Amino acid sequence: MCGIIGVSGVPDAARLAYLGLYALQHRGQESAGIVAVDQEGMARSHRGMGLVAENFDDQNLAELPGDVAVGHTRYSTTGSTVLANAQPCSVNTRCGPLSIAHNGNLINAGTIKHELVARGAIFTGSSDTEVLVHLIARSAGATVEDQIRDALEQVDGAYSLVITVGRTMYAVIDSRGFRPLVIGRLSSGIVVASETCALDLIGASITCELRPGDFVRIEDGQVTHLPRLAPRPVSRCVFELVYFARPDSTVFGKSVDGVRRELGRQLAREKPAPAGEVVFSVPDSSNAMALGFSEASGIKLEHGLIRNHYVGRTFINPTQALRVAKVKIKFNPVREVIQGKSVVVVDDSLVRGNTSKELVQMIRAAGAREVHLRLGSPPITGPCHYGIDTPTREELIGATHSIEEIREFLAVDSLGYLSLEGMVTAAGKDTGFCHACFSGKYPTTTPDDLVQLRHTKPLIATLA
Ligand code: AMP
Repeated sequence: MCGIIGVSGVPDAARLAYLGLYALQHRGQESAGIVAVDQEGMARSHRGMGLVAENFDDQNLAELPGDVAVGHTRYSTTGSTVLANAQPCSVNTRCGPLSIAHNGNLINAGTIKHELVARGAIFTGSSDTEVLVHLIARSAGATVEDQIRDALEQVDGAYSLVITVGRTMYAVIDSRGFRPLVIGRLSSGIVVASETCALDLIGASITCELRPGDFVRIEDGQVTHLPRLAPRPVSRCVFELVYFARPDSTVFGKSVDGVRRELGRQLAREKPAPAGEVVFSVPDSSNAMALGFSEASGIKLEHGLIRNHYVGRTFINPTQALRVAKVKIKFNPVREVIQGKSVVVVDDSLVRGNTSKELVQMIRAAGAREVHLRLGSPPITGPCHYGIDTPTREELIGATHSIEEIREFLAVDSLGYLSLEGMVTAAGKDTGFCHACFSGKYPTTTPDDLVQLRHTKPLIATLA
C-alpha cells in the first residue's frame, strides 16, 4: 500500500507535498520521495528509505524548487524494500521528464516485464510501477495522454496514479476503483491525494473524489476531465474502510470513522458478548469500532490498552521475529481497567494471529477474568492482489484454521467475527466492493507472475 500526493500551481510545492505525505505516513513507512518541477520544466527528486520525517529536512526541500510536485510513501506489495523501488519513479522520456507515484498493484506486471526484458528493456528496480513507465515511454501514441492511456489499456489490476510529464500533472484511477484518490483546491492551485486527511493538513478544500476510471489533466489551476477509461464492475477495497485509511478521512464518499462505528454496532448485534463488563479497542485502528460496539451493547467503553505512538505498524516490518517482539513495545495494558473483569476486546481484523495472541496473554497477565475477542471483519482467507500487504494463504490463520481452532490458539473465552454480509452492509451496500481477501471472490485473474515478482530482489540495489 502507498500514499500519493500531487501539488500543482502552488509555490514551494515540495514543502506542501512533504506535509501531505506526513498525513499519509500510515499508508507506507518503507520509503518516501518527492519530485518537484520548476518553472523551466526541470524535475528534481529526493527519495530515501524510511519515514517522511527521516528523509526530508529544510535543506533538501530547498533543493526541490518549483510549483509542481508529486510525492509518495511506500510499503512494498510488489518488489523488495530497496531504494531502487522507492517512488516517485522518474525517467526522461521523449516528452520530457516523467514521474509517477503509484498506489495499488498491477496483476500482469510480471508477464509484461518478461516480454519487455526479452526485447531489451532495462529495469533498475523490481516494482510493478516501472513496467508502467516503460509502457508509457514506448507507446506510439500521438500525445502524452494517448501514451498514458495506451499503457493503462495494457495493464490490469489496481492503480491510483499521480503522473507529471514536464509541468503537466495527470491523475487517474483504474476502472474498478480499488484505491481512493481525492482532488482539492489550495488558493489558485490543485492538490491530489490518497486521502482527505492530507488535504486537511495543508489547508486545501476538498473538490471531489475521483470516480473509478477517471482520468484528469491538471494544469494552470484547472482540472480537465479526459475521456474515462473503459468501464469495469466497480470494486472498491473494503479493507480501506475497515483498517487502512485514517478515520478522519472521507473515502469512497464515506466517513471512515462513521463506517467503523457502524461496523462495531453491527458486530455487537451479530456477535454479542453478554458476559462482558468493559469493552476496549486495540488502538488505534479499531477505536471507532469499540465505540460502536459499546453504543450498541451498552457495555462500558474503556481504554484497556495504551499504544506507544513511537513504534510503526508492526505488520509492516518484513521479518517475523521483529514483528512478534514489537507487539510488546507497541501495547501495554491498563491494569486498573482490566483487573478482575470480563473484558471484550475489539480489533478490526485478524491476519496471522500473532498480535492478538500476545495481546490476550498480556491482558490475562493484567488480571482479566475472561477475554472475549470481537473482530470487525470476517476471517481473512486469501491474499490481496491489489495493494494490501497480506501474507500468503498459508500464513493467514483464518484460511488454515476453523473459528474454534483460532479461539483455542488465541486462548480467548469467546471469539466472534463480523459476517461478510454485515461488513458490506455497514460499509455501505450501494458501493461495489472488493472483498476478495475475505470472500475469495477476486475481481481479476491472478497470474503466477505476481507471486514471483513480489519480493524479488533487483540485482542492483542502492541502499543509500
Ligand atoms: P496479526 O497478528 O497478524 O493477526 O495482525 C493483526 C493486526 O494487524 C490487527 O490489529 C490489524 O489492525 C493489523 N493489520 C491488519 N491488516 C494489516 C495490514 N495489511 N498491515 C498492517 N497491519 C494490519
